[in-house]
Amino acid sequence: MTPIQCPDLEVLFTELEAGEGPALEHAASCPLCSAILEEHRQMEKDLYRLADPLPPPTLVANVMARVATEPTPLRRELWSGIPILLASLAVGLGLLITNDQALSRLGAGIASLLTNGKVLIQGLATGANALWHTAAGPVAALLVLLLIVSLTGLKRLVGNGPNPSEA
Ligand SMILES: [Zn+2]
Repeated sequence: MTPIQCPDLEVLFTELEAGEGPALEHAASCPLCSAILEEHRQMEKDLYRLADPLPPPTLVANVMARVATEPTPLRRELWSGIPILLASLAVGLGLLITNDQALSRLGAGIASLLTNGKVLIQGLATGANALWHTAAGPVAALLVLLLIVSLTGLKRLVGNGPNPSEA
């Protein structure tokens, strides 16, 4: 039982889309409803990110901003995830540096990646292909697997926000 009469969530979100309305005005002065609206905005952002096959270049910045407002458990999870990602990238880079042909091919891939994140898979495929042809197939497969695991892990962390129905 709440002392204040809060509007129906459906009404609230409809007015949020419209940008005005009595429920929205109520939410501005009601901590309960404004918290629900904020959670709704975060979830929309997360869904938009997850709909993308790959995390955007701003993923880390977004995660850090999100983490700043999250409780400690998620923060701990994230801090344990970032070293894994960095280690994976370092291992992958180290392996590629030992292979001139693969390195020059991957260089082109990284250049594309900087301008368009979606080229990452192509760059990886090209780099892995080069390694494969220089008799390092298992190494290339391991590298791709490490990257995929790392990226998937980070994306899962982003989507792990608290559910409003459980709050
Ligand atoms: Zn309210």
